[in-house]
Amino acid sequence: MNVNVREQLLKTLGESIPKKQIMEFAPMSRYTTLRLGGPAEVLCEAGSAEEIRAALMAAHALEVPVTLLGNGSNLLVRDGGIRGLVIHIGDGFSRISDPIPLPDGRFALTAQGGATLTKLSNAAADAGLKGLEFAAGIPGTVGGAVYMNAGAYGGEMKDVVTHVTACEADGRNVSYTHEEMQFGYRHSVLIDTGRPIAVTSVTVALEKGDEDTIRTAMREFNARRREKQPVTLPSCGSTFKRPEGYFAGTLIDQCGLKGLRVGGASVSTLHAGFLVNDQQGTAADYLALIAQVQKIVLEKTGVTLEPEVRIIGEDAPVTGA
Ligand SMILES: Cc1cc2nc3c(=O)[nH]c(=O)nc-3n(C[C@H](O)[C@H](O)[C@H](O)COP(=O)(O)OP(=O)(O)OC[C@H]3O[C@@H](n4cnc5c(N)ncnc54)[C@H](O)[C@@H]3O)c2cc1C
Repeated sequence: MNVNVREQLLKTLGESIPKKQIMEFAPMSRYTTLRLGGPAEVLCEAGSAEEIRAALMAAHALEVPVTLLGNGSNLLVRDGGIRGLVIHIGDGFSRISDPIPLPDGRFALTAQGGATLTKLSNAAADAGLKGLEFAAGIPGTVGGAVYMNAGAYGGEMKDVVTHVTACEADGRNVSYTHEEMQFGYRHSVLIDTGRPIAVTSVTVALEKGDEDTIRTAMREFNARRREKQPVTLPSCGSTFKRPEGYFAGTLIDQCGLKGLRVGGASVSTLHAGFLVNDQQGTAADYLALIAQVQKIVLEKTGVTLEPEVRIIGEDAPVTGA
């Protein structure tokens, strides 16, 4: 973005969004669980659906590229940073409705796009509603989770989501039924479009259950994570998708790659499916480690590992353009 366009973007954003929510050159290492990556040219925090719409429309009018950011738990931002506007849909836009009874006996909960899965699964447990126990420990927002069709321990968003509302890149409000979301393994229609379509709310339908049983399941899943995953180190969860018929972590382990290191990034010694940024590495370190793991696993097993983490941004610095 040249300086004039950036000035114009900042001016237009400032007309609808409080100044304290708008930042220039915001370091993405602060906004991603991998704790690395260069700055976003302009980042704005969304506090409402109207602000998301205003930000999208401002960028659209100036032909500025838009990146949508949730909790940054599945994002690898290259060291040069992100060109254009990043819209952060997080804590400031995270309310959850009271449960609403549905004709089929289930109950609907609607969460704003920035609510975390932990918050939503806790709200479900508080209301004695089951079906979201699997999501309690996934550190993403509901927006990021429907985009990715996040899942764990035999459950996925696909099982519970009935309705999604969103804002199109040009500011139009749109909505998707369960079928229209076209959920698949770590996949939704939002990935296919390639456009920045901002999820503003997600509705799930859940059955009545026993609160103690629900809480016990959530605790057990979280304990399993703490035991088997490097949850205290910067990561993006499983770096690779599960290849058909295999587990990425098992393949990487069988190739003897636990502990393999490039600069500050290494293959976790606890769970080989997690590539961690344990020594303040760069995105270049992390990308080189991904490439090495892919190459060795392909040579030794014939299996191609595809990244699950979304790799975005520029190698060359976006600053000072
Ligand atoms: C320790 C750890 C454990 C994890 N365990 C799991 C697991 O068990 N299962 C699993 O599936 N994942 C897991 N993950 C990965 C991650 O938490 C999920 O993919 C999560 O759904 C990403 O949500 P997010 O809000 O962080 O999205 P981000 O990382 O911010 O973004 C991911 C993608 O979603 C898009 N996006 C984000 N918000 C919106 C929105 N409001 N509207 C439209 N698009 C949006 C972004 O543009 C981006 O393309 C784990 C990650 C970590 C760090």
